[in-house]
Amino acid sequence: MTERPRQTASPDAPVFRFAPSPNGRLHLGHALSALLNAQMAESIGGRLLLRIEDIDLTRCTPELEQAIIDDLTWLGIPFERPVRRQSEHFALYREALDRLQAMGLVYPAFLTRGEVKARVSAFEREGGLWPRDPDGAPLYPTEERSLGEAERSEKLANIERHAWRLDIDKALHVVGARLTWQETGDGPQGEMPADPAAWGDVVLWRSDAPSSYHLAVTVDDAAQGVTHVVRGLDLFHATSVHRLLQTLLGLPQPVYHHHRLVLGPDGRKLSKSHGDTALSALRAEGKTPSDIRAMVGI
Ligand code: GLU
Repeated sequence: MTERPRQTASPDAPVFRFAPSPNGRLHLGHALSALLNAQMAESIGGRLLLRIEDIDLTRCTPELEQAIIDDLTWLGIPFERPVRRQSEHFALYREALDRLQAMGLVYPAFLTRGEVKARVSAFEREGGLWPRDPDGAPLYPTEERSLGEAERSEKLANIERHAWRLDIDKALHVVGARLTWQETGDGPQGEMPADPAAWGDVVLWRSDAPSSYHLAVTVDDAAQGVTHVVRGLDLFHATSVHRLLQTLLGLPQPVYHHHRLVLGPDGRKLSKSHGDTALSALRAEGKTPSDIRAMVGI
């Protein structure tokens, strides 16, 4: 990608976004994603937005956000200003949660991660097979869907830490129709069947952070007019939840492009534990932006 003067995109231009979380340094996997977003946006005269996904206020820091901006600027990613920060839009996510609540689709969930884990282990020790989501995490038990009003109010008054979850059965009932999305990525392509039930009663509002990844990403993609979501194949199945939330909230659906992942020497998806693939480390060791493009195959 060459640096050229940016022309002002027309108001109906396609909109792409790169949406990292500032809870660690960007690595080669992020570089692939950002470069692909920029390349695809440029090829169809689209705009490229940068969204900082910092709902987790304990793990995300302003220093890491600045490091992201420095890395992207160094790589030559032409994202628009101003940058959107999710931490500045909690009221918007709350409004979406309130709408789902008014539709009778959400409930307060009080079990801690440890309690769910203990329940699953006990069940599996007895030879049962607890259902798991596409990431391998056990589905949340569903009994709190039907807590009586009195018991629910008492718990809400006494247990400060609680999440809000989507009753997936009710949500699918309300939607009625089969959900799909348009996929153009490196995995299967075409019209994909969405299977939100595979995730069970997803968290919409975390007990330890305002909002949740699924709710914030869905609301923001619509609020920012995103038409093309380009992200890693690790988020392929999450799209099922996003399509469900878009449908319930009456939001438009983007086209999705889930790209291949950059793997570490151990064959696993890159993470912060692969420190030597951090863009800052590669830059310090003398690599140039074109070396990075070559390393991720762009
Ligand atoms: N914030 C997410 C991440 O860093 C990406 C979200 C998305 O592209 O939908 O993995």
